[in-house]
Amino acid sequence: MHLPIVAHPDYSFPFPAGHRFPMDKFGLLQQRMRELGILKQHNLFQPTPCSAAELSMAHSYHYIQRFSIDALSDQELRRMGLPWSEGLRQRTFLAPNGTLLTAELALKYGVACHLAGGTHHAHYDFGSGFCIFNDLAYAARQLIHSGKAKRILIFDCDVHQGDGTARILEDDPEVFTCSIHCEKNFPHRKAISDLDVGLEKGLGDGDYLKTVEETLLQVIEQAQPELVIYDAGVDVYANDPLGLLNITLDGIRARDKSVINTCLKLKIPIATVIGGGYDEDQIALAARHAIVIEEAAKLFI
Ligand SMILES: [Zn+2]
Repeated sequence: MHLPIVAHPDYSFPFPAGHRFPMDKFGLLQQRMRELGILKQHNLFQPTPCSAAELSMAHSYHYIQRFSIDALSDQELRRMGLPWSEGLRQRTFLAPNGTLLTAELALKYGVACHLAGGTHHAHYDFGSGFCIFNDLAYAARQLIHSGKAKRILIFDCDVHQGDGTARILEDDPEVFTCSIHCEKNFPHRKAISDLDVGLEKGLGDGDYLKTVEETLLQVIEQAQPELVIYDAGVDVYANDPLGLLNITLDGIRARDKSVINTCLKLKIPIATVIGGGYDEDQIALAARHAIVIEEAAKLFI
């Protein structure tokens, strides 16, 4: 068996050139995983689109419908940060089920990776910061509801706080939300996760890795999860235009390796999502997102 990988050809779609959001990165990441020999036909799993009824597990039905028919106001679209299009609609209904499928595969095989996901700024009834539907909250609620897991840890290492996830799941005792982020970064009004670790601007590899490792052990002890959903955002990278930390590529690799290995050593299945990452050079960006999948794939050699 190879590492189970979840992806879909519609994750990237024709998108306005020069937009701040790197929409091509999903397709480029799939291409990179193929080039590395990690993604083949037999370990590729494709999600099907969510229905509005399914998504209402984590979102207001009215909001889902209004997004679906392009009826959001200009103000709502500005906050979301992405221009509406049919392509955007399609990928937005696919990705939450991609994370759910990844989690189900992780429960079966121990580890699985989604080549998208981590839209943690999406709230119950509005989108924000390039996020429309919250795949993390949706997948966690679906798994609890179906009885596939009784306790879940969402371990969010994107450089920005997982505010939407924290708010949607604030009254869900079965799901523990942990966000390790740069304190002086978006969103400026923070939500309250079950555990928040706000990092100083400019933090480097050594202190960062120590914090991630200690925090993971602490929240596993506290939450006793049957599954970890890991947001491996690479916007912690030193040269990321939207991150304010000083983490190197080796630091990202050490982080991802440590999180995956800690979970597996404790026999806790882990599902990874790529989270945030920004760069005008989307090929270089896709290579950064590939790191977590490369580290997971090493377990299957
Ligand atoms: Zn981010």
